[in-house]
Amino acid sequence: MTGDLKPRTRAVHGGTRRSQYGEVSEAIFLTQGFVYETAEQAEARFIEAGPDEFIYARYGNPTVAMFEERIAAIEGAEDAFATASGMAAVSGALISMLKAGDHVVSARALFGSCLYVLEEVLTRYGVEVTFVDGSDLDAWAAAIRDDTTAVFFESVSNPTLQVVDIAGVAALAHAKGAKVLVDNVFATPVWSDALAQGADVVIYSATKHIDGQGRALGGVILGTQEFIRKTVEPYMKHTGGSMSPFTAWVMLKGLETLDLRVRAQTANATAIAQAIETHDKLARVIYPGLDSHTQSALVQRQMGQGGTVLAIDLRGGKEAAFRFLNALEVGVISNNLGDAKTILTHPATTTHQRLPQDQKDALGITDGLVRISVGIEDQADLIDDILNALKTA
Ligand SMILES: *Cc1c(COP(=O)(O)O)cnc(C)c1O
Repeated sequence: MTGDLKPRTRAVHGGTRRSQYGEVSEAIFLTQGFVYETAEQAEARFIEAGPDEFIYARYGNPTVAMFEERIAAIEGAEDAFATASGMAAVSGALISMLKAGDHVVSARALFGSCLYVLEEVLTRYGVEVTFVDGSDLDAWAAAIRDDTTAVFFESVSNPTLQVVDIAGVAALAHAKGAKVLVDNVFATPVWSDALAQGADVVIYSATKHIDGQGRALGGVILGTQEFIRKTVEPYMKHTGGSMSPFTAWVMLKGLETLDLRVRAQTANATAIAQAIETHDKLARVIYPGLDSHTQSALVQRQMGQGGTVLAIDLRGGKEAAFRFLNALEVGVISNNLGDAKTILTHPATTTHQRLPQDQKDALGITDGLVRISVGIEDQADLIDDILNALKTA
């Protein structure tokens, strides 16, 4: 691949390795191991494996390598390591680089499992973690210290779609020598250029938009070759969170249509948000692409578009939210996001059920809040479905 191809071309061709058969669609190398021609070759490979030399699928596999090279090419990253899930990527990126005594600053508005890793796991091993309001640059500035090793945040938070200023936080972190780790799931590789904006490490749950069809769990960590191969790979390959070759094949094929799907989903999300923005059953419509989003200027600068997810707050609380969800005929009630199907979630009783009430309040997770991950269905059908369901709310 030459350096000047655009991301949409790289998404289709990047990383391809053809076998001797010249297959068009990438092969699934569903093998845990590899045969060496001689004992000397085995010895040499264990000393140092070349880019097309494999040892064991936990260390690497040709199909997994194709996925890693393709997503790295799309992101403009030097390298990538594919993982068994998004959480294997989040925990692997953090744990592989941290040690007892280190200090981390993190945004408070996080996916529940990310919060668990930072609050419960890292602290158990002697890492100090300070939580801040991610949208407040002054809070980041106050919390980042001379001895801070890393900062962590979701560039767009789940489920209330708070946006963190990547360039702003990166400038503060880099001034103190801290690395910037960004969970970029909601922003997607299509609307985010997190590495160019100052992130050192970008993490995706591939389960979401990259698969985009609800089939498999996966994740990926992107960064410099030095960080991926010297810090992440030794940790991941010895602790077992590597991606399976079958999953890598699903994700690789997902990358080919990622751009088309995310653009279609975003167009649908924008149209829905505009259609219901002033609906009288709704106290709030939160969509980063609306002018009414409190961080609209930042969204335009950082992403250019509002993405594929919106959140609505029904005035009638939980009862109204449940009536609305139960009346849908196209959208489905589930908890994934980024899917080709429109998926609706009631965070207060499902994904964020276990949060204590004061934390729900602090994060804006009200009883009327419904998260809508918008799919690629016909736009008019989706708007009709939501307006009809709102009548019952
Ligand atoms: C889903 C999600 C994860 C975890 O990914 P899994 O593939 O489910 O392990 C991490 N961060 C964010 C923001 C997510 O939405």
